[in-house]
Amino acid sequence: MKNEVTLLRPENFDALDAALQQSSAAWTFVAGGTDLLVQKEKWRKATHIVDLTALPELHQTIEINSKVIRIGAAVPYGDLIRHSELKTYLPILVHACELIGAAQIQNRGTIGGNIANASPAGDTLPVLAVLNAELLIGPRQKGEFKRLSMNEIMIGPGQIQLKPNEYIAFIEIPILQSPEPLWDFRKIGQREALAISKLSLAVLLWKDGKHVQDVRIASGSVAPVIRRHHKTENILNGQELNEQLIEKAAETLKNEINPISDIRSTKEFRKEITANVLRDILHQWL
Ligand SMILES: Cc1cc2nc3c(=O)[nH]c(=O)nc-3n(C[C@H](O)[C@H](O)[C@H](O)COP(=O)(O)OP(=O)(O)OC[C@H]3O[C@@H](n4cnc5c(N)ncnc54)[C@H](O)[C@@H]3O)c2cc1C
Repeated sequence: MKNEVTLLRPENFDALDAALQQSSAAWTFVAGGTDLLVQKEKWRKATHIVDLTALPELHQTIEINSKVIRIGAAVPYGDLIRHSELKTYLPILVHACELIGAAQIQNRGTIGGNIANASPAGDTLPVLAVLNAELLIGPRQKGEFKRLSMNEIMIGPGQIQLKPNEYIAFIEIPILQSPEPLWDFRKIGQREALAISKLSLAVLLWKDGKHVQDVRIASGSVAPVIRRHHKTENILNGQELNEQLIEKAAETLKNEINPISDIRSTKEFRKEITANVLRDILHQWL
């Protein structure tokens, strides 16, 4: 049976921050509820719940200016997929959102929930890592959100660097330097659709003639935390993209990741397949 519950549906940041700062209760945030409601134990124990979807800035913001793209943490994936301009600026992110769940999940699930849930299999996490995303964290102190880099927020499976009652307000993504990078996001699951990733790989690559000018690589499901793979990036940066270089990068990536064996795959399979996916991605850009 569910305990007695206090439910808050703040309609602006002042109301949200005041409630969090004036109460000693441990609040549980809910956005789409697609992770939280299936984590029955956590949901059953929640006594103070904040529904983030009544706050328009969190639930509706998709702003694009000359420097950054700002997305409200509680904007559903479906709104990102259907946004008229986002695909032009962030095709890799829109593509990753399209691969998440099916229409029901896309219309409820949010990036903020994906990040805060901190699953190594969260599909937007490697994409946000290669996009060098920053997170704006509330409650505001003296009117300002705290900033955390996507590359430092995750500290372990299910663990992120948020203090009790801190929430993700916005995700900010710097506009990508021109010329536009080549990009790919691959997700390998048990089947094509509606599957949790056995591994995912996000790559952005800028090419200057035959040479790799800059590259960013991050993977999902093959390490306890999502981080950029700087060793593999350094193998590629500044070099001519050819068969030998691709082989060297794939072998480096194999040693840079640290997968586990679980019900979905063995450690060895994940290492091999991650290297193969990188080979395949880079080959298309030879
Ligand atoms: C059938 C099904 C299929 C799925 N398929 C995929 C998939 O393909 N890929 C994938 O990555 N995931 C998948 N998921 C998992 C889930 O849908 C995503 O992780 C989604 O992004 C979670 O967002 P949400 O808004 O529903 O989070 P919620 O369930 O509302 O919250 C998740 C966690 O984050 C916290 N939280 C939420 N928002 C905030 C915030 N702004 N600040 C701080 N904490 C917050 C909550 O307290 C909770 O602990 C699937 C889930 C289901 C049920």
